[in-house]
Amino acid sequence: MFINTHTHFQLYDAKIELVNLNMDSTVKANYYSYGLHPWYLSKDSYEAQLGKLEIIAHEKRCLAVGECGLDKMCKVDFDFQQEVFIEQIKIANKINKPLIIHCVKAFNELINCLNLYDNKVPVIIHGFNNNENIARVMVDQGYYFSFGKALLGYESNAAKAIKNVGRKKFFLETDDADLSIKYVYKKAAELLGIDEEIIQQQLQSNFETVFKTNL
Ligand SMILES: [Zn+2]
Repeated sequence: MFINTHTHFQLYDAKIELVNLNMDSTVKANYYSYGLHPWYLSKDSYEAQLGKLEIIAHEKRCLAVGECGLDKMCKVDFDFQQEVFIEQIKIANKINKPLIIHCVKAFNELINCLNLYDNKVPVIIHGFNNNENIARVMVDQGYYFSFGKALLGYESNAAKAIKNVGRKKFFLETDDADLSIKYVYKKAAELLGIDEEIIQQQLQSNFETVFKTNL
């Protein structure tokens, strides 16, 4: 079974696709997540959006809150990003669903926000492609990783990280890339030197554990 843990579209390429839906979307997917992405925060609308998130994130097929997080490379005021992120940590903990994280150059702040607000839900760093030091710190925090197209890059950070994070700690995704998740699985198997079948079973078990579902 193929599982795509983070995509922006229902692609019908994997049996399970966790689609990051826009909160205003009328189209639903089989499984999805809702969140306020740091790139698109607006001081005019964030309160209403957080209010809406708190309601719709309860939906049974909404398996996670996100993607949400922190991004120092975008123009949105960083303090404001942290404020909205903290509210999403609170919502995720209130409804007991995992957080899917977007994080760019703000890993210390990410940990601070999560620890300060006593986060208890699983944290999945999506699109991970950072160096070994950051990977180690994230492993120490007990966070999960979701690897995507960066795995395909020759000796990329992601390709190195997947070998060190432990099989119980990662997922695979396509995000917004024009790419088949099957190819990402193939690459992951190659990098880990194990059978693709084993990865499929492991990621199914990881998914069932973290998202509390029976597939
Ligand atoms: Zn994404």
